[in-house]
Amino acid sequence: MKLVYTSENRFLVGNARNILAAKGIDVTLRNEHAASALGELPAFEAWPELWVVNDEDYDTACEALRHALSEKGTPPWRCSNCGEENDVAFDFCWCCSTDRPGT
Ligand SMILES: [Zn+2]
Repeated sequence: MKLVYTSENRFLVGNARNILAAKGIDVTLRNEHAASALGELPAFEAWPELWVVNDEDYDTACEALRHALSEKGTPPWRCSNCGEENDVAFDFCWCCSTDRPGT
């Protein structure tokens, strides 16, 4: 098991999980629901974490996420339905689930 991705934004982590799952990589989420059971822990302790189950998938997973999540220079897109700004990693609006324009 290797930690491949973590973010304070659980939507991004969920999206990363979907990207890797689509590539057939076994992944597991930790702390997915920790935020609601947080108590006094510092916020970063409860960041959702995406782990690859098989260490040999780690490099592939990192590469896939680098491509998918680090589209440098690509600005966030704005939802045509509710006007929320969405990170380029999202294929649909985090707020209202409207599909990303142009996809
Ligand atoms: Zn929206």
